[in-house]
Amino acid sequence: MIYLDYQATTPVAPEVAETMKPWIEGKFANPHSPSRWGREAAAAIEVARKQVTQAIGLDGGNVAFTGSATEALNWAIKGSMEKAQKGRNRIVTVATEHAAVLDTCEWLGGSGYDVTRLPVGLDGRLNLDQLRQALDESVALVAVMLVNNEIGVIQPIAEVAALAHDAGALMLCDAVQGLGRVLIPNGADLIAVSAHKIHGPKGIGALWMREGAEPSPLIHGGGQEMGIRSGTLSPMTCAGFGEAAKLASERRDADREHVQQLWNAALDELGPDWIVNGSLDDRYHGNLNIRREGLDATRLISDLRDIAFSLGSACASGSGRPSHVLRAIGLTDREARSSIRLGFGRYTTEEELVSAVRRIGAAANAQQGLAA
Ligand code: PLP
Repeated sequence: MIYLDYQATTPVAPEVAETMKPWIEGKFANPHSPSRWGREAAAAIEVARKQVTQAIGLDGGNVAFTGSATEALNWAIKGSMEKAQKGRNRIVTVATEHAAVLDTCEWLGGSGYDVTRLPVGLDGRLNLDQLRQALDESVALVAVMLVNNEIGVIQPIAEVAALAHDAGALMLCDAVQGLGRVLIPNGADLIAVSAHKIHGPKGIGALWMREGAEPSPLIHGGGQEMGIRSGTLSPMTCAGFGEAAKLASERRDADREHVQQLWNAALDELGPDWIVNGSLDDRYHGNLNIRREGLDATRLISDLRDIAFSLGSACASGSGRPSHVLRAIGLTDREARSSIRLGFGRYTTEEELVSAVRRIGAAANAQQGLAA
């Protein structure tokens, strides 16, 4: 298989698997127990917390581990709204956010909160003037992602955070696709990240919180994680996340150069029949979301079963609905259904990417009755 679905998930780094092994094989103590073994596990979790904090790269703040970034985003949104001052009952977000943000906002919308979903331009970028106009003293939270999971477009997080703060609101950044790939700009009060997008294990995410911006608890219980996110932590997944974060920090430049080389090679091979969806420049280049006139993307995926790639997004792929992100950048249903997403990164070789792109081109030609 040639794996080109790095936005859905990434292969676990060998170093991460090695780090996790002792914690599943023999070291099973509860990290919240006072025994020597419990304290050893707790210490390993604190090392991991530091590694994740360093990869996020901002001064101050605290990291709480969660079961996923979806949980971190639910917690940040629901817990911030619960804590918001009286009269501040509005959330401002963007049409191209992940379902973990949009569906949480929609749920709150049905419980008496107001939600403003800002549009994006054809390039997928948020218009800061529109954001400024949407902000007033009724807004408690502004939620904008760093790197889009479907089209890789990068939003101006520092500017968004400054505008949110001018209006007296908090700013939440979904940095799931940004961590380890682009620098996380300063400014956000809450940042959600996930291990499995940076070559770590599934089933663990984290919420970085600026001091004073901690949301009310979403999960109540034993009072773990500073008393605001209960539940016994898994030393295995925490240690895996920590190692993945450490590698991401150490390899950031090398990974970025490698991805840039892959992007150039893929674009060269694709040729002029394909159009890139979203901005070319304000973009993480490990995400190549492309379309071709008249293509049946679903059929293409089933024609090429040994290449793992995606329709607009992993979530939209199974639903049969055209991606909300591709619709938001102005694509018609037909154009959205002619789009595929190729995601690549640290372990992708140029040779396999070019060979996959060549086969994708040939299969598209065959589908459209053109000579290969
Ligand atoms: N936000 C973005 C941008 C994502 O790409 C994803 C995963 O697809 C999530 C949030 C949810 O992350 P998790 O899988 O850790 O729940």
